[in-house]
This record gives sequence, structure tokens and C-alpha cells, in this order.
Amino acid sequence: MYAATAPKTISSFLVEKGMPGFALGQQWKDKLGMRASFTAELVFDEVLVPLANQIGADGEGTIHMMRNLEIERVTLAAMSLGIAQRSLQVMVDYANERKAFGKAIREFGQIQRYVAESFAEWRSARSFVYDVARRLDLHSVGQRLDADATKLVASQMAKRAADAAIQVLGGYGYMGEYVVERLWRDAKLLEIGGGTLEAHHKNLSRELARNPSVLRD
Ligand SMILES: Cc1cc2nc3c(=O)[nH]c(=O)nc-3n(C[C@H](O)[C@H](O)[C@H](O)COP(=O)(O)OP(=O)(O)OC[C@H]3O[C@@H](n4cnc5c(N)ncnc54)[C@H](O)[C@@H]3O)c2cc1C
Repeated sequence: MYAATAPKTISSFLVEKGMPGFALGQQWKDKLGMRASFTAELVFDEVLVPLANQIGADGEGTIHMMRNLEIERVTLAAMSLGIAQRSLQVMVDYANERKAFGKAIREFGQIQRYVAESFAEWRSARSFVYDVARRLDLHSVGQRLDADATKLVASQMAKRAADAAIQVLGGYGYMGEYVVERLWRDAKLLEIGGGTLEAHHKNLSRELARNPSVLRD
């Protein structure tokens, strides 16, 4: 938990289950995707936290928050890569197996386009995410530009790949048995959680205005 310990001073604390004033609020059961993960509101109401549960020094909360967000965004970008990879596996298998009008559907140009574009987008996002992850320094902040950019690109790429997989599978794509509908639903959260697409747009535009030298690297 982050809390103000003085004016303009945000500090970090470890709040543990059972501490007075800390409770679970609404528990969300009816979610579009990510249904294997528990989602609930956390309620903090006059919670008393012992000093021993402070993380780091007074005023370090903002740095912790920024650092965590950068790590979270690259992690969610990596999750997007997995969603796209699985979508590609399913769509390529299906395009090889399914025959229509006497041919495997992979021989149809429109199906080839779904497969080829999903593959190329996945590979390019993967290079970007791996490159940023390799350079990510877990002990400092200031990597926001790339952390935001990886998630902006990879989350939308994953949703497009899952969407393409649904289309390649036709009616089966819409059914739970073939997984790709779940991949699409899970991918959608990555455009919202850990920073919405709009937050990434705002952050990236601001950082580039502040630091245009990045564009000359
Ligand atoms: C399944 C799930 C799990 C989650 N898990 C966590 C978690 O573990 N920890 C956690 O802290 N949070 C979690 N969240 C919350 C998530 O981070 C927020 O939902 C997300 O950041 C968006 O905030 P919001 O829902 O308040 O949307 P709002 O702030 O109400 O935004 C609504 C829309 O308006 C846009 N918008 C808002 N402000 C602006 C602006 N200034 N300019 C342009 N557009 C704007 C947003 O981008 C969005 O499209 C979870 C959410 C979900 C659905």
C-alpha cells in the first residue's frame, strides 16, 4: 500500500491480512476474461500499520510505484506474447487440418493473411519486448518510455492475433473447446490493466516531448 506520511511524501507499507481496518470489498466473479485469477476491491479504512511494515524510507513510495509499474508493464507485454504464440499454434494447426472446397484452408489467400500478419506482428513484438526486458534495470526508474511502449504494442498485437485465430477457426473459434476465444478475452484485459492504452498514449507523448533526443538514438 502507498500512503502519504507527510505533505508530498508518499511511502510504501506492507499491509497484511487480518490487520484492523483492512478488508476485502466487492469480489468480481463475472469477468470477461482472466477468470482463473481472483479479483476483488481492497478496502483500507483507518488501517494501523506497524512501523516494522514500512518498506524502504519515508518518501520512497513514488519511486517504488513507478518502478513496479515499469516491471508490471513489461511483464504484461510478455504475457501478450504468450497469448499470440498460442493463438498462432491453434490457427496454423487448424488451417492445415480443415478442408473446404477440396483444399486445406491454409491455401486460401485470406486465411494466409491472418496467419502471416499474426506471425510477423508477434515476432516483431517479441524482439521489442525481449530487448526492453534485457535492458530493464530492476533497481532504477526512468525506463517508462519503453515499458509503456512494449505493452501498448504487444497487448494490441495479442488481441489481434487471438481475433485472427477465432476467424480462421470459424464457428469452432467461438467455442471454448478451441481456447482461442479465451485467449481473446484474456488479451482484452492487457489493454486495460496495468495502465490503459490511453494512459500509454499520454505517457509516451509526454516523455517524447520532454526527451526528444530518444528519437535520435
Ligand atoms: C480483471 C482486473 C484486474 C485488475 N487488477 C488490478 C490489480 O491487481 N491492481 C490494481 O491496482 N488494479 C487492478 N485493476 C484495475 C485496473 O488497473 C484499472 O481498471 C485500469 O487502470 C483503468 O482504471 P479505471 O477502471 O478506473 O478506468 P477509468 O479511469 O474510469 O477510465 C475509463 C476510460 O477512460 C479513459 N481515461 C481515463 N482518464 C483519461 C484521460 N486523462 N485521458 C484519456 N482517457 C482517459 C481510460 O483509459 C479508460 O478507457 C484490475 C482491473 C481488472 C478489470
